[in-house]
Amino acid sequence: MIAKVIVDVPAKQTDRAFDYLIPERLIEVIQPGMRVIVPFGPRTIQGFVISIEEESSFDKLREIVEPMDLYPVLNPELLKLGDWLTDKTLSYKISAYQVMLPAALKAKYIKKLKMSKQCQINDLPLDIQDLFINQQEVSWEQAVNEGLLSLLQKEATKGNIEVIYEVKERVKKKKLKHVYPLLNNEELMGIRDALTSQAAKQKVVIEYFIDKNESVELRELLSILNVSSATVKGLVQKGVLVEKDMEVYRDPYLDRIFEKTQALRLTDEQFAAITPVINSIEEEKHNVFLLYGVTGSGKTEVYLQSIQRILEKGKEAIFLIPEISLTPQMVKRFKGRFGNEVAVLHSGLSIGEKYDEWRKIQRKEVKVVVGARSAIFAPFENLGIIIIDEEHETSYKQEENPRYHARDVAIERARFHQCPVILGSATPALETFARAQKGVYIKLTLSKRMNNQSLPTVQIVDMREELREGNRSMFSRKLLEKLQDRLEKKQQTVLFLNKRGHSSFVMCRDCGYVVNCPQCDISLTYHRYNEQMKCHYCGYETHVPTHCPECNSEHIRYFGTGTQKVEEELGKVLPEARVIRMDVDTTSRKGSHERLLNDFQEGKADILLGTQMIAKGLDFPNITLVGVLSADTMLHLPDFRSSEKTFQLLTQVSGRAGRHELEGEVIIQTYTPEHYSIVLAGTQNYDHFYEQEMMIRKPHQYPPFYYISLITVSHENLMKVVSVTEKITHFLQARLSKESIVLGPVASPIPRINNRYRYQCLIKYKREPELGKTLKTVLDQYQQEAVSNGLQVSIDVNPYILM
Ligand code: ADP
Ligand code: ZN
Ligand code: ZN
Repeated sequence: MIAKVIVDVPAKQTDRAFDYLIPERLIEVIQPGMRVIVPFGPRTIQGFVISIEEESSFDKLREIVEPMDLYPVLNPELLKLGDWLTDKTLSYKISAYQVMLPAALKAKYIKKLKMSKQCQINDLPLDIQDLFINQQEVSWEQAVNEGLLSLLQKEATKGNIEVIYEVKERVKKKKLKHVYPLLNNEELMGIRDALTSQAAKQKVVIEYFIDKNESVELRELLSILNVSSATVKGLVQKGVLVEKDMEVYRDPYLDRIFEKTQALRLTDEQFAAITPVINSIEEEKHNVFLLYGVTGSGKTEVYLQSIQRILEKGKEAIFLIPEISLTPQMVKRFKGRFGNEVAVLHSGLSIGEKYDEWRKIQRKEVKVVVGARSAIFAPFENLGIIIIDEEHETSYKQEENPRYHARDVAIERARFHQCPVILGSATPALETFARAQKGVYIKLTLSKRMNNQSLPTVQIVDMREELREGNRSMFSRKLLEKLQDRLEKKQQTVLFLNKRGHSSFVMCRDCGYVVNCPQCDISLTYHRYNEQMKCHYCGYETHVPTHCPECNSEHIRYFGTGTQKVEEELGKVLPEARVIRMDVDTTSRKGSHERLLNDFQEGKADILLGTQMIAKGLDFPNITLVGVLSADTMLHLPDFRSSEKTFQLLTQVSGRAGRHELEGEVIIQTYTPEHYSIVLAGTQNYDHFYEQEMMIRKPHQYPPFYYISLITVSHENLMKVVSVTEKITHFLQARLSKESIVLGPVASPIPRINNRYRYQCLIKYKREPELGKTLKTVLDQYQQEAVSNGLQVSIDVNPYILM
């Protein structure tokens, strides 16, 4: 028997199946979808078996050394999906397979075998009993050496034997000292009352733990209560508290019992929205639905009840949600409804825990997966529905090879399983909404919030006006007044500083004029070193004007501000306000993100100041004011999606206020109050925004009217980069049809990273059947050079980041 194997050498020459002989002893062991060790040149490496055949057109085949798994890690559907992925993302087969697997299978690990929980030793064949008689776990090597793989595999299929991967995690998990009480409330109170007045500090500590039977990090406890570690030590010695080293990241969902919830009675709107989905489920028909509904309109309930129907039919469901929104509240809603049928894949899990969740899916112990992007590859075999919440989020696109978009993968898998896909959002991606308008997707609308709760009121403040009236501070008078008001009322404020990437554009502080490229309608990027501004799509270049072309003001210059600066300013104008700052600097330590949010939730600060990372998921009842300091920064990124991203973000940020009883207010500060993405974010009118934006995308030939692909070339030598990009551009111009537009070569918006110069070429096209092949030729051509001289050529089909 011959196994066709894709070997783990990501290169052009090896991007095809190699034939290997399956040795006699492994004939019944090796199956498609399994990983194997094979000889390759002088080495042995791993590979994936994609099929098994009786003959090979080659003679003198080498033999498979051994399998790496007892069961296939990729099922036939996923193997096929690998071909599709390779094709769509122009990646190597091996990368496509690797991306579908949990990290544990890719990391360095020690592989062991053990008996599964339900297995009794007597159930096993004698040879294997011998193996386990004196040990709980058997090393893989021992099993191989004793020639027992085939027998073990049979037992694995029956569920008697499990493979475990002990991952040598490069980053050792950080452990921190925690304390928790050993006694119950009553006992704690007893001790407290018995303490003498000299032990006042100990009393404070005991007080803290009454009614709060959880562990707390020691350092945190000391700082909250302002006590010394000796005080805590004293209580430990008395046997009241215990100290223990605990991992900073614990799975918050494990072992927790979730209160069971029932399906709610759907509103008329929800019922109208779910009916076509249910029909599609019943008819086993593949449809893509866009569930278009503002936050709080009951989308999640529609998801839950659709999944309910899938479970009743004995099928499985994938629910994707951006990592940042994968909050304990969300998990609770799924676990509450479906209990142990749910596996959750989130970044807080260790590599080993993620593998455990993945195995639950493979063993069919769960039927629902809730997770971020990569959960789209959950190895279900009987998928009944795939749901993508917040479908417009760019985190669904993987920004390294293979550069897939989870939405595309979802639709491809659903087509295979003949099942529906639901894309949900309050502000869908323009591409998605356009497809729904054309009838490619079926649009389902939820227009009202539950309980007819109103959206927060939004006021747009013109910062040019502020300047004209002599206010040079970054806070408008209106915002400052509202901030003071909330301080008095002891309500909370979220201050949002929109800052991402290289938002270095040139703007007139008097009239808000931003210098745009005359050809591309994106803002020009400012370069300090030569005082030039440049278009990063087409290469247009010009000087920074000394006077504003619109109003002739001299206040036209580079624009940008940091959170630290804002914090300093806040300290000056509102010295009594307690501020928590959240940005890359304050959240780089693991767990600090959550801690800061907790502090805010517990009312330890009046103002939460932060960047993008606070835009989502916050749902605290006491937030009644949201201030956006400068709505413009993202608007002027050199990216044709900048208006769309601004609109989505402002809508989302505004949604942080007044989600509960207290009414919410939003203040958006801007220098371009007339820009449609800001005006329409103010009225939270997506439909209007869509119409406006489409009118701009069309003449400029951007998606959804055209597709785009981006080619980025980088190398340490600038001349080399320019000449290669030039060659590629010419090649593409010669090969592609006349209707396609090839822009470039031009320096990337980030022209140098790590001493490597970066150039790009952008292709816009409508129909270009040969494109994949042409791009692949480009890649293959330069791949050789990559090895020899460090040249890198990367191609992103449908890019979301154009930097
Ligand atoms: P979305 O996902 O669109 O933000 P949710 O599904 O979270 O909206 O619904 C918002 C709130 O309304 C939640 O608290 C939810 O429990 C409640 N809700 C949703 N559907 C119903 C219903 N049919 N009856 C009563 N309450 C509902
Ligand atoms: Zn001006
Ligand atoms: Zn341009």
